Amino acid sequence: MRVVVVGAGIAGASAAFHLTELGVEVFLIDNNAPGRATLAGAGIVCPWLSHTQDPRYETLALAAVRYYPKLAKELAASGENDVDYDLVGGLVVGHSAKELDPVVRRLQKYLQLGIEEVGKVRLLRVGEPRELFPYLDPELAGVYLTGAARVSGESFRIGLLNAARKAGARQLSGTAALRQSGNAVIGVEVAEEFIAADAVIVAAGAWSAELLRALNLQLAVEPQRGQIVHLKVAEANTEALPVIVPVLSDYYMLGFRNSRILMGATRESGSGFDFRPTAGGVAKVLEEGLQIAPGLKSATLEEVRVGFRPMSGDGLPLFGSLASTAGLVVATGLGRYGLTLGPYVGLLAAQLVVGQTPSSDCSCFRPDRQI
Ligand SMILES: Cc1cc2nc3c(=O)[nH]c(=O)nc-3n(C[C@H](O)[C@H](O)[C@H](O)COP(=O)(O)OP(=O)(O)OC[C@H]3O[C@@H](n4cnc5c(N)ncnc54)[C@H](O)[C@@H]3O)c2cc1C
Repeated sequence: MRVVVVGAGIAGASAAFHLTELGVEVFLIDNNAPGRATLAGAGIVCPWLSHTQDPRYETLALAAVRYYPKLAKELAASGENDVDYDLVGGLVVGHSAKELDPVVRRLQKYLQLGIEEVGKVRLLRVGEPRELFPYLDPELAGVYLTGAARVSGESFRIGLLNAARKAGARQLSGTAALRQSGNAVIGVEVAEEFIAADAVIVAAGAWSAELLRALNLQLAVEPQRGQIVHLKVAEANTEALPVIVPVLSDYYMLGFRNSRILMGATRESGSGFDFRPTAGGVAKVLEEGLQIAPGLKSATLEEVRVGFRPMSGDGLPLFGSLASTAGLVVATGLGRYGLTLGPYVGLLAAQLVVGQTPSSDCSCFRPDRQI
């Protein structure tokens, strides 16, 4: 069986990797579009405190979180040692125990349901969060949980791509277009070449609607621009810092290797593919972030990344086959939580394409559902 995957973000890279494990001949095509979300994404993996509390999302996210460490270990075992995924814990900050009480209750609800991945939960008195994240305002209280992870999406994506290539997947650069015969997709065209396939997985993130539009198919996904600031602090072990999870504020921070701290992010719906950091976007991120962490005021402003979240009309993934078209599987719409969901959704896409029953029931995410 031959499968073409269009898009080598975290979802497509994972689909390609898992297809090789299922013994499929794989072509993976990517055009390195400016604003690919996986490069810009922050990397918070903490669905217990997501903005979205839709039970369909929560079920999928829990399975995705359970799968992450297993996949990270598998990549390490295959020699991918630069994959940067770690269970660093998370902190929600606020001004008083009263303000933080709903957060504690929400986490306890998951624990009562037996979801142990939330980890240990502890209420921190004013001043204590700063002991864990030294740049914070000393007047902040907090809730600490051990079950939050953070990932460098780009390192995970590269690990998956390398492992897929080692297992025989072929990676091509260029912009792919779907080719149809009757009501079936029969392959893709890229760089004036036609690659015939038994099935095509569209994992082209925010660009997925464009691909399907050429076949007169509608897909309810749009780009939502996110601007995220990368700061550098003087010599510090930033990679072990807990994630400052956005719950009471919409803004967050997380540390990575090489003294880097990410502060994010804007959520600009209706942005189109306008790939520009803007003065207003960066100002807002810094204003909100520095209010929580004034200790970062003297950090070096290293970089601003811009990415397009693939947002579906109802905020839930767009996943599965289309009733109207054979040979096509869509794996996108991962929105704000694509670095959390992407590796697992890639596994599900691979399973679906080869005719296996996916490890999670995804029928509620059908890409042609009414939105
Ligand atoms: C600022 C920001 C912060 C975020 N923070 C988090 C977070 O903390 N936690 C979390 O879980 N998620 C987060 N996300 C969301 C997450 O980054 C995305 O949902 C996820 O990366 C989407 O992955 P993807 O593979 O679907 O898309 P992408 O990574 O965008 O990949 C799509 C790929 O398809 C390629 N492509 C498009 N069209 C074609 C074509 N015709 N032919 C060939 N190639 C094509 C593009 O070049 C691109 O490489 C964040 C996103 C942003 C922007």
